[in-house]
Amino acid sequence: MTAQRTDTGRLTVALETIEGYGMRQRARCRVVRPTTPLEVAMVFADAREAGVTVGLRGAGCSYGDAALNDGGAVLDCSRMNHILAWDPGSGELTVEPGVTIEQIWRHTLADGWWPPVIPGTMAVTVGGAAAGNIHGKNQWRDGSFGEHIVRFDLLLPTGQVVLCARDQHPDLFFAAIGGWGLLGCITSITLRLRRIYSGLVHVTQTAHGDLDSLLAALDAGTVEATHLVGWIDTAARGRHLGRGLLKSMREPIQGEDPDPALWLDPNSQPPPSRLYGVLPTTWLPILGKPIATPIGIRLANRAQWVRGNLPGAAHPHYERYVPANFILNFVPNFKRIYLPGGLIQHQTFAPRAVAPRLFGAVLARSQALGLEPSLAVLKKHKPSPFLLNYLPDGYSLALDYAVPRRSEARTLELMRELNHLVAEHGGSFFLAKDSTLTPDDFRRAFAPATLERFAALKAQYDPRELLQTDIYRRVVRPAQDLAAIGG
Ligand SMILES: Cc1cc2nc3c(=O)[nH]c(=O)nc-3n(C[C@H](O)[C@H](O)[C@H](O)COP(=O)(O)OP(=O)(O)OC[C@H]3O[C@@H](n4cnc5c(N)ncnc54)[C@H](O)[C@@H]3O)c2cc1C
Repeated sequence: MTAQRTDTGRLTVALETIEGYGMRQRARCRVVRPTTPLEVAMVFADAREAGVTVGLRGAGCSYGDAALNDGGAVLDCSRMNHILAWDPGSGELTVEPGVTIEQIWRHTLADGWWPPVIPGTMAVTVGGAAAGNIHGKNQWRDGSFGEHIVRFDLLLPTGQVVLCARDQHPDLFFAAIGGWGLLGCITSITLRLRRIYSGLVHVTQTAHGDLDSLLAALDAGTVEATHLVGWIDTAARGRHLGRGLLKSMREPIQGEDPDPALWLDPNSQPPPSRLYGVLPTTWLPILGKPIATPIGIRLANRAQWVRGNLPGAAHPHYERYVPANFILNFVPNFKRIYLPGGLIQHQTFAPRAVAPRLFGAVLARSQALGLEPSLAVLKKHKPSPFLLNYLPDGYSLALDYAVPRRSEARTLELMRELNHLVAEHGGSFFLAKDSTLTPDDFRRAFAPATLERFAALKAQYDPRELLQTDIYRRVVRPAQDLAAIGG
């Protein structure tokens, strides 16, 4: 592939090393950053001619290799970042794929609208959110990201643009959402946002002494809350295994906030750049480094549990919407506390009936190997209607593992063991977080017909496999092959 001249000027191709969010998977790729659909089509044509594969990339917030394409080209959508249309009457928003969740709330908050599904970072792009069909803390109630997409333009590897909606090319609509950028490049997308009546959320936090009671509280919380998230003390063992705190958030109803304009002003949302008015947040990645050591992890978990049990900790209060959801975005480069070894996130999705046993086993096995996760987050889910659905009628447990060099081999062995355990229990996996799955474990999370259907769509719309990523070659394609031979 070479640099190309287009109507908009020179489109350069640079050889770069890019990495996943966990800072463990790297790829040497020819990276190109188009600014228009026409340029995307030109990149596809150029790559076809040169016999080079193309991997799509948004903000690169996937932890492993979902947006890497070692040895090939990477089409980075981050410069296709314009808001194309906004209707504050209906809440319908049309954007280019590189628009981030942050751009959305900054644009729509003052009109009383909020992105319907948000992840734990506002850096994620709309293209990446759609291709991963991401979930939020309200997934059990409001569904996944894809469920709020009205329509999108998909630029196929052939250069043809297809408008996809529930009633137009539904095969592509339901497969490209959650299809990991393997069928085409989303070049514009229309979403329906959610009405809110305040920039505050009502928060209650409660402490629960073991996993069963935490899961029971998560279920009971659905009556009042709009968003629910559990934190687990990964250092607690034995009968306290899985104890934790449940944060229940509720969006205020109309009239509840006496001065909605104040907090709906996007400028009122970001937290201060100094902790307790003194410490610059830019120092936190340096000061926080001990948190990523085994002793630090234990102490930080214990401290959080004790804090969550202090008198007054359960007192209901209001928090600003943005810091309540995206606090880490205001600590630049916090993930660098995990260097030099990086970070693995392991997220287990479990059907309701097996979740207590499976999550208990995952936590206990990590502890037995001396590999307590630095962070454990629990959420509640319901299935989504998309082809490669990973969401169960149940729960997920996301665990962050620091991977210092000395325990790297043990951690990777633990990941393999946990993946088998999840597959055996009928659980599922989320490719955004993965870096360790085998094709066989991935295959077991789907009915064989599902993977065969995805393979058939790939063969129909991308017969020359122009669109590829490292995770496609490592997991998805071999899993499809296994499904096809009934393996
Ligand atoms: C701190 C943190 C917290 C997170 N919390 C959550 C969470 O709560 N819930 C959740 O579900 N996820 C969460 N994630 C994961 C994140 O939402 C997904 O990895 C998401 O896909 C990343 O979007 P991105 O823009 O960074 O895309 P990338 O990671 O760059 O790419 C993701 C996928 O999208 C494809 N893609 C990108 N652009 C396009 C396009 N224009 N057309 C077609 N395909 C495209 C890529 O090929 C790739 O397969 C979190 C990640 C981080 C780092």
